[in-house]
Amino acid sequence: MGTPAQILPETMQSYAQQVLALEEKSAELASKNMDEDFKKIFQKAISLWVKVSGSVQGVPSDNARTAILVVLTKMLNKIDLTIAPEFLMGAVGMGLEMGFAQALEETGGKEKVKKPVISPSVKEALDEMPGKLEQQMKDGKKLLARAQTFSQVINALSQARKVVTTTERTARWATNESVNHSVRSVADQKKVPLLWIPERNACVHCLAYAGKVSKPGQDFPAGLTFGDKPLTTEKVKNPPLHPNCRCRVFPWRGSKRGVGAVDLPAALEREAQRSVLKGWSESTSNAERLRAADRLLQAGTNLPKTVQSEAKRAVNTGTFPNPLP
Ligand SMILES: [Zn+2]
Repeated sequence: MGTPAQILPETMQSYAQQVLALEEKSAELASKNMDEDFKKIFQKAISLWVKVSGSVQGVPSDNARTAILVVLTKMLNKIDLTIAPEFLMGAVGMGLEMGFAQALEETGGKEKVKKPVISPSVKEALDEMPGKLEQQMKDGKKLLARAQTFSQVINALSQARKVVTTTERTARWATNESVNHSVRSVADQKKVPLLWIPERNACVHCLAYAGKVSKPGQDFPAGLTFGDKPLTTEKVKNPPLHPNCRCRVFPWRGSKRGVGAVDLPAALEREAQRSVLKGWSESTSNAERLRAADRLLQAGTNLPKTVQSEAKRAVNTGTFPNPLP
């Protein structure tokens, strides 16, 4: 689900869509080769096992099993783990460019604005990535070498395939971080505040940052959350607040520019409270969403009485009635 589209100016909606598309594209392209290799390996595992033992439940002889494991190990050895980290360096460059272009468009003019460079956290993540992928592959191969049954073989291959999900997750996170880092860098140079915009199904932590405006060159406050406990006690430079976070920041020069009479920060805060009361935080557990809604009701909110009484009912019954709109 997207950002609360009905209250966002069109330019911001289109920026957010561009970033999301870049995240998805980066994740897909970075993991594509490995993903295809794994599809072939899983197929090979099934066909070889069935061939020597009649079915996947069958038990092959020791020799036959060893022969299968040798074939599968060889296939794993051929997977090139160096492509993804190198590709991500390029994807990060595109993220930086995109954030730069969007922030300039929003703040007007590029005189004296320096092009942002890779953020320290992305650099660290990309530096660690090859080692992480190698370790996941190694763990998978270790399990494979000991596998006796077909389900143990699949389990081992699934462990090795974590290289694909790690790559996808890192690609999305690094792209988002690079765009937001770049936007922040331009805004800082131009001394423009930043506005935090979460998706409406964001987690209970990110929703607490909705509509927050940081002063030029300063971080967002530490420790905000609607949940039980904040994710971090440190100040926050910019989203992502966590892996799979799709929050954005945009340069913010006040409600009067181009958005009519709507006070966007206040509207975003209200929408975030609505998300909490409706239980829309997809990545937060049901129990924590209920506690968050309960806490917000206790603290008091200006949302319509119908939304509040519905939330009360949800807290009492233990379930939210509404799927995401
Ligand atoms: Zn977020």
